[in-house]
Formats: sequence, structure tokens, C-alpha cells
Amino acid sequence: MKIVIVGGVAAGMSAATRLRRLAEDAEIVVIEAGDHVSYANCGLPYYAGGVIEDRDALLLQTPESLASRFRLDVRVRNRVTAVDSVAHKLTVHDLGTGDEYAESYDRLVLSPGGRPIVPRVPGIERALVLRDVADADRLVAAIDGVGDGGPARTAVVIGGGFVGLEVVENLIRRGLAVTLVELADQVLAPLDPELAVRVRDELVAHGVDVRTSAQVSALTSSTATIADAAGVEVDKVRADLVVAAVGVRPDTELAAMAGAELGPRGGVLVDEDLRTSVPDVFAVGDAAIKRDALAAPGEPEPFALIPLANLANRHGRHVADVILGRTGMRPSVGTAVVGVFGLTAASAGRNEKRLRAEGRPYRAIHTHPSQHAGYYPGASPLALKLLVDPGTDLILGAQAVGRDGVDKRIDVLATAMAGGLTASGLADLELAYAPAYGSAKDPVNMLGYVADNLRTGDTRSVQWHELDRLVRDGATLVDVRTPAEHTRGTVELTLDGAPSRARNVPLDELRARADDEIPVGAPVVVHCQAGQRGHTAARLLTQLGYDVRNLDGGYLTWRDGTRATVADG
Ligand SMILES: Cc1cc2nc3c(=O)[nH]c(=O)nc-3n(C[C@H](O)[C@H](O)[C@H](O)COP(=O)(O)OP(=O)(O)OC[C@H]3O[C@@H](n4cnc5c(N)ncnc54)[C@H](O)[C@@H]3O)c2cc1C
Repeated sequence: MKIVIVGGVAAGMSAATRLRRLAEDAEIVVIEAGDHVSYANCGLPYYAGGVIEDRDALLLQTPESLASRFRLDVRVRNRVTAVDSVAHKLTVHDLGTGDEYAESYDRLVLSPGGRPIVPRVPGIERALVLRDVADADRLVAAIDGVGDGGPARTAVVIGGGFVGLEVVENLIRRGLAVTLVELADQVLAPLDPELAVRVRDELVAHGVDVRTSAQVSALTSSTATIADAAGVEVDKVRADLVVAAVGVRPDTELAAMAGAELGPRGGVLVDEDLRTSVPDVFAVGDAAIKRDALAAPGEPEPFALIPLANLANRHGRHVADVILGRTGMRPSVGTAVVGVFGLTAASAGRNEKRLRAEGRPYRAIHTHPSQHAGYYPGASPLALKLLVDPGTDLILGAQAVGRDGVDKRIDVLATAMAGGLTASGLADLELAYAPAYGSAKDPVNMLGYVADNLRTGDTRSVQWHELDRLVRDGATLVDVRTPAEHTRGTVELTLDGAPSRARNVPLDELRARADDEIPVGAPVVVHCQAGQRGHTAARLLTQLGYDVRNLDGGYLTWRDGTRATVADG
């Protein structure tokens, strides 16, 4: 069997090497338009920033190494320009010689990835993108100012997603003054605003000029004009270099040429075994749609576009299995992580914004534990969020931000989602513990406790953005922290133009003071710093006959949520 793979990086090369491991007799041809195969595109921002010093470290394999170890026929600087899926033939343009030739296939795997989206604004031609090694070379040259007289001092990065933030961090590392321009009202769209605001704070603390609800409306050779979300010009900033990092669009050109059906939101439509609608043609990686593990039951088009490396590699392995007669790939939840100046942000599955937009019921849980035992040196806080299906108790999404221990928690939660574990079931996970690594009740277990308390009705919670309405409707707000904590910062609402503060009754005095100080008959909302003491207070008051809710995530989540509203407009 002759298998031709178009695109020789994450998905394509995973497919090629897996095919060889399973089928020594197959003829395997990999055609790659760029100069390199199997390069570490995820490392490119760090090469630009000088963290990865050796450019060769990005080049994980070469055509020669792949030929000797895997007997692959790898052709770099060769671009497939046409597909005849009836004749099972490709037209290939050899970019080195300029020759064109035909290549036949028995099975065709399309893994051309996604093309960077470039906003359409005057002067955008000068904006750099970051997709391959050649792009990274161009970015490094622009930073160094090669042939241009002096290094770059200022940069504008368009797009505050994962790649945009990595580029920002690395430009700061190289000493540039950076303006980050993001059209949405927050950075890092996979997070909800009350978590994303922490990432924004970190950027600002490192000197990044963060502009949200903003767009670049024009570029000159040395400036960028910034407009608000409506397109009204608000500012002009210096920009020795500009990087556009606003996402990728699946490259579907060859698939369309082959006659393959495309997905509703772009991306090559594939079945669960990565077959396109055209016989013997498969599509994998960023170019292909993914099966959405979190689609609501009965959703007619349970597809997602998730341009991430783990999925591309899994696609590659899976398509090799399918071509050789094996099946079975798990749908995707979308799990991602990014580091920004030592702060880590990660997410898996749906966020609250998306669930709300889909009109799906959910329960949100916020916690603020330390990443390991508080008494052990180096404890630092995490902000965790869990989204739960109230009907099934299944986990719909998770988010985490913190300095340490974020990736471990998100990976455990993503694993729980893949395994179909319920949110309450997290309480029962046996997780490794010693004081330097976690807590005997790990933050993941704690999420399970909260979920279980909500599921059983032992606690009822209120979200930070619901507080105003409840208090306006007559609820009494009680802060059960210590007076010192209360003085340091407290929930302050504005009701009918007048400030309204929580009443401070510390938890340890609540039993004695409740009768005198908390009116019976009206609902009560209790809050503490992070939600845990609030839960104890809610249990106590409930048993005393009050109608009580606990402010989910406590003062910290309320503070972050309201701050996000102000900071991001
Ligand atoms: C800067 C950067 C940082 C990233 N960081 C992360 C990260 O930290 N974590 C993460 O999960 N993901 C990350 N990603 C995303 C991840 O790299 C992609 O999801 C993954 O590489 C997709 O693999 P792929 O094989 O589908 O496509 P690609 O890796 O894009 O490879 C496609 C290849 O196909 C070639 N090609 C296209 N058309 C043709 C043609 N007609 N003929 C021949 N060859 C063709 C292209 O030249 C390209 O080399 C990052 C991406 C970038 C660009």
C-alpha cells in the first residue's frame, strides 16, 4: 500500500512513524512545503525570546534521520498543489527545482495544519506571524533589527490568546516595550473573566500595555493605530515590529479540491476515524474538525475546532491505525495550558461564557486553595473553577490560574472528564500527597466536596455576579471573616446609588450573635475569603432555620469578577 501524507509536522509525522512501526512493507511518502519536518512549533516563541538558544533544538527530525530510522520518503520544499481523488493522483510542485510532477496514492492523509489569520487592516503586510521556523527566523531578525540599524524597541502584538501571550512574554524578555491589543473584553478567551483578570494583572505587572475591547485599525512602518471595538480610533502607539496572533484557520484547500465535505465552522469534515467524505482520503490535525466530547445530547453537529498539538499527535497515530484496519478515537474536550511570566493558566472543556451562550444548565464552583500544604514553605494560591452539569453531575469544564500546581490539577480534571467521572466523584480520588506537593485534601478533592454539597443541597451558592440582585431583593449579606479581614477589603455593592457593605459577624461568633443581628424571614448570603468558612456558616445558619446561600469562591472571586468588569470594560 502506498500512503502519501501532505504536511510533515505534528499530525503528519506522527501518522508516518506510526504507520512504519505497524507496517514495514508500506510505501510511505511525506510531502512538506516548508524547509523542515517535525519541528517544534510550540517552541518557536521561546526561541524568539532566547529561552531556547539553539535553533537546531527546534528541529526534532530531518528527512535523513527519518529515512534511516523509519524508511520514510520525506520531501521538504515540495508543495502539493492539486488533488485528483478519482485518479488517486497529486500534483506536486518541487519548490527547489521549480519542477512539477505527479504522485499517486492508495491512501492520502491531509495534514496541512491551519493558516494564521491576519486581520484586514491597512499596512498589515508588515505584520509577522508565527507558524514555522522561517517565521521565527523573521521574528528574531526583526527583534535584532538585522539590516535595519538597531534592534527593535517597541512591539504591538495583535491577539491575546495562547500564542499571542507567549509572544508577548518573549518580546518583554528581549527588552521590548509591548502593547497587546485584544478585540475581546478580556485576554485568554478560554478562561472566564474572573480568572482571566489575573493573567491580565500579571501582564500589566510586567509592563505590558494591555488593551482589551480594542483593535489595530491601521499600521504604518513605525506605528499602530488602535481603535475601540466599534472601530473608533482611540490611540496611536509606536511599533517597530508587529505580530499578528489572532488564531488559525484550518487549511482546507486540498481537501476541497479533492471534493471533500467541509465542517459547518470550517475544517475538513471527518468521521470518528478521520475519513473525509472522499474514499481513501483522510484529514488530521488542525485542518480537521474534532468530535466534541461536550456537545449537548442531541446536538446535530457535535464538532469543534481545537488547534492543539496533543490532538494533532493523537490524530496522526489514530489515522495510521485506521488505515491499517484498527479503530476508536476518543472525542475531544480541548485541554490547554500557557505560562505568562511564571503564572500558569490552563483550561479544559467548556467555559461559563460558552455554556451560557449555548443555553445549557450548569453549576459553577470557584475555590482558592494553596497548591500545597499552607504550612510548607512556598505555598501559593490557585484560582480554580469547575463547571458541572446539574442534571448528571458530569464535569463540563475546568479552569485554573496560579504560580504552581496548575497543570497538575487541570490534567487530573481533564482525565476525570475523559473517564466520565462525576464532579462529586472528585472527592473520592486518591491523589499523591506530601506537604511539598499537595494537601491531604487536594484542591481537586475539595472541588469534589463542594460539588457534592451542592448536588445534595447541603449548601446553596450564589455567584459573584448574582449578588447585587439578591441583596437588592432584600437578602442580608454577612461577612463571616475576622474584623481584620473585613477591614482589609470587603464586598461593597452600590444599591440605588448608595454604597452597601456586608455586615461583619465572624464565624466563631455567629452561633451566639445570629439571633440578635441577622433578621429572620429574609434570605441570607454569607461570605468569607474563599468560600470554605462561608460553607460552615451556611450550614450553621441553615440548621438555625435561616434561608442561606454561600457566596461561591468568597470575597476573592467577587473581587476578581467585579475587577474584571472594571478592568476589561
Ligand atoms: C507558535 C505556536 C505555538 C504553539 N504552542 C502550542 C502549545 O504550547 N500547545 C499546543 O497544544 N499547541 C500549540 N500550538 C499548536 C500546534 O503546534 C498545532 O496544533 C499543531 O502543530 C498542528 O499540527 P498539524 O500537523 O495539524 O499542522 P502543522 O504543525 O501546522 O503542520 C502542517 C504542515 O503542513 C505543511 N503544508 C501545508 N500545506 C501543504 C501543501 N499543500 N503541501 C505540502 N505541505 C503543506 C505546512 O508547511 C506545515 O509545515 C502552537 C502553534 C504555534 C504556531
